[in-house]
Amino acid sequence: MADRYDFIVVGGGVAGLMTAARLSEQDTAVALIEGNLLGSGATTRNHGIVHSGALYARWHPEVMASCMQAQGAYGASFPKCISDIEMCWYMGKPETMRQYGTLWDKYGIDHGEVNTWQVRELLTVPDSIALQTTATRELLVDTHSLITDLAARCLANGVDLIVGTRVSRIVVADHVVRGVETATGLVQAANVMVCNGIGTLDVLERSKSMIAEELRSRLEIMMAFPGELPCSIIGLEFGWPALAPSAAGGVVLASRYGARQRFVRGPARWPVPATETTELTRELTEWLRPGLVDCTSGVAWVCSKTEHARGTGDQWGTEPNYAVINHYDREGITGLWTVLPGKMTLALHASRVVVAAVTGTEQPLALPTEHGGRPSDVFDLVDAAPWTAHQEVSPR
Ligand SMILES: Cc1cc2nc3c(=O)[nH]c(=O)nc-3n(C[C@H](O)[C@H](O)[C@H](O)COP(=O)(O)OP(=O)(O)OC[C@H]3O[C@@H](n4cnc5c(N)ncnc54)[C@H](O)[C@@H]3O)c2cc1C
Repeated sequence: MADRYDFIVVGGGVAGLMTAARLSEQDTAVALIEGNLLGSGATTRNHGIVHSGALYARWHPEVMASCMQAQGAYGASFPKCISDIEMCWYMGKPETMRQYGTLWDKYGIDHGEVNTWQVRELLTVPDSIALQTTATRELLVDTHSLITDLAARCLANGVDLIVGTRVSRIVVADHVVRGVETATGLVQAANVMVCNGIGTLDVLERSKSMIAEELRSRLEIMMAFPGELPCSIIGLEFGWPALAPSAAGGVVLASRYGARQRFVRGPARWPVPATETTELTRELTEWLRPGLVDCTSGVAWVCSKTEHARGTGDQWGTEPNYAVINHYDREGITGLWTVLPGKMTLALHASRVVVAAVTGTEQPLALPTEHGGRPSDVFDLVDAAPWTAHQEVSPR
């Protein structure tokens, strides 16, 4: 560890590692400090879909262009991490699907109707529900390889990757960032980028930043079940499940998109109590053809992300876009930035924006395809095979 860095990035998820990887292309001293192992947060606990933006057509059309643009850049930046370019089935009531179809046409997203028999082969959709399914093409990324690739780039370019070290607060004196406080003492830096997902709220509160009030961390119930699916299936009605085959193989990930979610704080992940997963398990048992997925032995983790608030109290809405907050603009602190990507796709944009701002250099959206990093060099730093481990990591 150096005495002083130009940049400290807090958090080793997709946002932190992309930010550090871009900074490492400059002639600067960079450290990334991760409380657990790299990739132990939401990035390796999600569906792994590099969204085209199709999902957002109705409720968040402003996000679509960013997603579409970044999807191409993802493929170019991380070709070895893309596990599939696959059909993704979006399903909903016929009226909903008509609305989406019109919007997808408007935004240039290719889509095609799926034959009912293909859907019925997988799902036992109750007859009472009129259902229509449309396919779009989405990228599936192996999030473990993605984290490994990014970490290898950082290490090869001289970033100090410090794992197992929790940042408790940002140290600021006279409105200027001095570094971060950890259990082993102060690590000094001229600039700090806070990219620690669900931990962001905690770190900013301890640092007495007013930005903390604008953040919310919400829990999306995410479960992993033994089973196979030929493609991702996303329900577009409120509370309908979203399903995706995991890159690990033999595992299906399920969550309730847009369903009731509660706000959470605290550790990055812990097993979710069975009482909270009952509804999702019941829905899957009802919807999926028996034998496809073993709905009796699912494992649920807190899988959560922190987002920038768009309102107050009941008005607060989830924000799938990305946010890059310059604390100088908001509270007069020099050298402090908070980075919140709504999606992995959008982390490309967020890291581009923050690094362009702090270095004054134009950043392309894509990261260089070729780099000198070797995955074997970072093997011990990366959280391994998360969905097959199925073990408690940190107690509630
Ligand atoms: C259920 C669910 C499904 C999703 N599905 C998709 C999807 O299919 N496609 C998609 O693009 N996005 C998806 N997302 C969103 C996506 O996962 C997140 O936007 C993205 O992974 C957030 O990355 P991050 O780097 O900000 O946070 P994280 O990946 O959570 O990384 C934060 C890191 O900071 C570390 N940390 C926390 N506190 C501290 C501290 N005090 N000191 C040091 N380190 C700390 C954590 O250990 C962690 O490694 C999904 C999210 C959820 C919840």
